[in-house]
Amino acid sequence: MSVDPYSLCPCGSGKKLKFCCSDLVADIEKIHRMVEGDQPRAALQHVEQTLKKRPGRPSLLDLKAMLELILHKLEDAEQTVAELLEKDPKNPAAHAQQAILKCAQGDGRAAVEPLQHALTMVSENMPRRVLEAIGAVGHTLLMEGNVIAARAHLWLYQGIAGKGDTRALELLVRLNQVTGLPLMLRDHLYMHEAPAGHPAEQQHSYAQALAAHGQWGPASAVFDKLCHEYPDLASLEYNRALVHGWLGDLETFAAGLHEFARRDVPLDDAVEAESIAQVLDPGIEDPTLDILRLIYPVLDEEEMFARLSLDQRFASQPVDTEEFADMEAPKPRAGFLLLDRPLPESGVDITRDTAPRILGVMYYFGRQTNRSERLELVIDRNEQYDESRGSFEQKLQGVVGIAEEEVVDQVSSADQALRWRWHFPRDTPIERRRALSREEGRVAILQRWPDTPLAVLGGKTPRQAASDPAMRIALMAAVATLEQGASNHRFPDAFRSLRDSLVLPQPEPIDAASIDPTRLPLTRLSRLDASRLSDEDLKELYQRAAMAGASGPIKQLAEEIVKRPAFDDFHGIEQATQRLAMLQEDTASASRVYELARERCERRGESNVEWDLCELELSLIEGQPESVQQLLRHIEQEHIHEQGVSEQLYSLFYQLGIVPGADEAPEAPSPPPTEPSGIWTPESAQGESGKQKLWLPS
Ligand SMILES: [Zn+2]
Ligand SMILES: [Zn+2]
Repeated sequence: MSVDPYSLCPCGSGKKLKFCCSDLVADIEKIHRMVEGDQPRAALQHVEQTLKKRPGRPSLLDLKAMLELILHKLEDAEQTVAELLEKDPKNPAAHAQQAILKCAQGDGRAAVEPLQHALTMVSENMPRRVLEAIGAVGHTLLMEGNVIAARAHLWLYQGIAGKGDTRALELLVRLNQVTGLPLMLRDHLYMHEAPAGHPAEQQHSYAQALAAHGQWGPASAVFDKLCHEYPDLASLEYNRALVHGWLGDLETFAAGLHEFARRDVPLDDAVEAESIAQVLDPGIEDPTLDILRLIYPVLDEEEMFARLSLDQRFASQPVDTEEFADMEAPKPRAGFLLLDRPLPESGVDITRDTAPRILGVMYYFGRQTNRSERLELVIDRNEQYDESRGSFEQKLQGVVGIAEEEVVDQVSSADQALRWRWHFPRDTPIERRRALSREEGRVAILQRWPDTPLAVLGGKTPRQAASDPAMRIALMAAVATLEQGASNHRFPDAFRSLRDSLVLPQPEPIDAASIDPTRLPLTRLSRLDASRLSDEDLKELYQRAAMAGASGPIKQLAEEIVKRPAFDDFHGIEQATQRLAMLQEDTASASRVYELARERCERRGESNVEWDLCELELSLIEGQPESVQQLLRHIEQEHIHEQGVSEQLYSLFYQLGIVPGADEAPEAPSPPPTEPSGIWTPESAQGESGKQKLWLPS
């Protein structure tokens, strides 16, 4: 086989073949073929044989380490990487392997340093292994819940890998969609510009350039030094915090942002920095209360079921099989809820005061070989705990024995204040459930939260902090964090009232004509009038909001997009319309969105049946027979002969499990979707990102 000696070496070093492994081409290519053919064991054997002929060759040791990692031979890989580093300490791929090894050992934070060594050693072309290490470190940090460092690594990967490899991008999108991160953590954090004319300007720019290439280690050293020399320059403090954060050092990151917020900087900047610091500061922990599991031996099964089914404070609850999917032992046979008041016959006129709240969840487990029947109750150890437990045990007196107790989890007091769990009678209309959820949300935000002691306020409650001028920024940041939580944008009025009651300023409007759409923090979007944005700025901001999976901004901007004929040919218009409709609080508003979409189709001279079908699906799910009939009639009269329409109609009914009769409107097929039952808090989101098993660069 003839190979161009000036092509890149197949070992992935980024060097030209002639100066790298020209004597090993055949072997290396053979090994690659074996890996592609899914024969890593054979490939490893071949590497080992080749190494006997050419002992200590870095490119072979690199392949060997890679194969050992694929085969999960971590101890072997550790030895190989150590040998590689010893033979070739200036080889970036060797340090990258060290980083990948740390990732395989499950320590993303420890992987950052060797990766930094690798990045500083890259000269011309980036070795393949270094790029892989960036992805692996980003992914491992993400699994560890280190969002700031994970995002920085994944963006770096994406920037180098280019458009052809979208794995990091997909992971970033999923990170935003999956986790309940507050808005400010879904957005890019940009460095502050170097101060023009300042003695630090040149070194500052140099550090920024290093950082732009992912060399955050060297950049952090420059910023550390500059902060020491020019302690008054707040932008240095901010940038220093960022690069330490990108390196995974959350302590320094949070401390730097707290410090920046104390400086003489624009109020918005201070509040945003403080808010991020509060959420991510590892030193801040709210007081928690225990979630307990009480395990009762069952003495009389028949009588127990009789009592559970007769008492209106128990409600039977189907066992969620997914929740127990990982459980090896037999799954529960039945589930019940313990309510704080009897379940009313009907939910048609239910109010906040008559709706039962869930105090605990019960599971009944049948006899197992080494265990007799038992009833488990999961319950929070909150203020009502003694009373709830007492009355529960009284109701089941004589049919269950003495409970064993174990702590299964913990919940922060702030979380507890902002959460609620209701159980509604089956006939409770969706609109009613939503209205109650909005009402309860307001009560949680305006009454319970202000009286909850918070670690971010040094253990004071927001109301106490309101009278302390020194806590002003911290309090504004705490309110902002709460407001930017996952779906808390549904309560804009509540946050206005909350600020008034805490004597905090309301956010000032921002002039849409004066913004930089690529940089404006998404958290500030709600303050500008989207109707005054230019088409270009609107598009740019919408795309950023969509990437961040930020419901509030998506709703605000899509609202404007669907109104403008200039967006008729925007390639994301269908998705924007659909998202906007899904984000509406009620069906009437969603119908209005679909109406705009139909008008667009008219302008484009297209059929609008796609939107008729969307609206039909919504009306079916929401159980609105009149609108279902009207839409069906319309589709039949106007569209039924269009291509694919009757098939789509059929598949819609099929998916929803409905066979429509000739003249009757179908019933709502499934129980209505549950409303989010709580206000987002940072605690509730923590740990979620770590649980998500996503993607590992291969
Ligand atoms: Zn080579
Ligand atoms: Zn139509």
